[in-house]
Amino acid sequence: MSYVDRVLEATKAKNANEPEFLQTVEEVLNSLRPIVDNDPKYEEHAILERLVEPEKVHMFRVPWVDDNGKVQVNRGFRVQFNSAIGPYKGGLRFQPNVNLSIIKFLGFEQTFKNSLTTLPIGGGKGGSDFDPKGKSDMEVMRFCQSFMNELYRYIGIDVDCPAGDMGVGGREIGYLYGQFKRLTGRYEAGALSGKGLSYGGSIGRPEATGYGAVYYADEYFKSIGSSLKGKKVSVTGFGNVAWGACKKLTEYGAIPVTISGPDGYILDEEGITTPEKIAFLLEMRASNRNEAKMYLEKFPNAKFVAGERPFGKVKADIYMPCAMQNEIRIEEAKLIVSEGTAKDVIEVSNMPTTNEAMAYLQQNGIVMQASKAVNAGGVACSSLEMTQNAEHLPWTLEEVDEKLQRIMRGIFNACKSAAEEYNVMINGKPNYVAGANLAGFKKVAAAMMEQGIV
Ligand code: GLU
Repeated sequence: MSYVDRVLEATKAKNANEPEFLQTVEEVLNSLRPIVDNDPKYEEHAILERLVEPEKVHMFRVPWVDDNGKVQVNRGFRVQFNSAIGPYKGGLRFQPNVNLSIIKFLGFEQTFKNSLTTLPIGGGKGGSDFDPKGKSDMEVMRFCQSFMNELYRYIGIDVDCPAGDMGVGGREIGYLYGQFKRLTGRYEAGALSGKGLSYGGSIGRPEATGYGAVYYADEYFKSIGSSLKGKKVSVTGFGNVAWGACKKLTEYGAIPVTISGPDGYILDEEGITTPEKIAFLLEMRASNRNEAKMYLEKFPNAKFVAGERPFGKVKADIYMPCAMQNEIRIEEAKLIVSEGTAKDVIEVSNMPTTNEAMAYLQQNGIVMQASKAVNAGGVACSSLEMTQNAEHLPWTLEEVDEKLQRIMRGIFNACKSAAEEYNVMINGKPNYVAGANLAGFKKVAAAMMEQGIV
């Protein structure tokens, strides 16, 4: 049995009740075969065994009092996955389905994503099964304060820098930072990113994930002699990432035609392209209702399809999933292929495609781009925020955006070059997904080997 197969088997046996974590480990390790199966040094240093084992896992009780005076208890997590190339860095997700498997999958992905940015950040992730939907501001504040009462022990500028993810935006980061500052008695701005502009945040951070995804896509289309101009894009989600993507897609002349929520999807054939429509996505998010159909209240010409996702149901040149993990399962993959219009799936949300769906799409001529490469603009901008905090100087939007663009275009080219270097091709085209894993892995593995067995 090969080294990869042995580590996969052991990882499955050890983490049998963590399906999301095993899904990403399987996807990533399988694509590393061209490197690790051809060079014994990786096994000698037990690189894969160490990569799949988080350096530390913190799991803690988060008690808080709701507006009715009732005590509520949630579970908090911070998984510090890999610090080979920098302090742990990654978001916090507040969503009722959050569990250890989900946080470990996100932390594992983050390690490779952060490496791809070329910036000095290790991989980590955290969150809670707290449901922000329908909570008052004061409830959210009390929850965040209680969460930080434990988390503050594990974070810091040179240790671990959390940020937002699903359910954690500017409001939550503000409450978390305020409590962190109070507990530590220091203004350690670089210990959290995604902060407000008035207290150390970076201009451009809220847009960075969506904009970064479009810069990546632009670079990809350029490389194949094409462009985004005139392409119909089916976006899912309507949060921060979908918003940024729609905004930048429009600037590049593409036409986003869908958004989605847990309740179904919106199809706006006229395009979600006007400043009014794009701004309304922010209102939808701020409303805390978590419903895509709210779009109809302002734009009644659009169509709402309850309980469904747009994959293979609407005609689009590109699908850009921006909602959450496992949005594209084998059923959706088959629909996309049989519908026949789309040529590209540009993953934006973390791990939106199951491994089975990914293989099916690739075998059937759809070109896939990996989320850990495409969505790295968010964390890259977070790292730029840490740099600004360290030098006590805010940068201009032009400076941040120029760096973000350079990073994202560099990531696409790194994925492409790695696929070409290791000759991982599908239907004569580079397998960009494998390329992302190979490129991200190389730097982390090199740093681990140079630092000895730790
Ligand atoms: N949650 C985002 C991600 O998945 C951003 C993390 C960060 O800014 O640290 O990469």
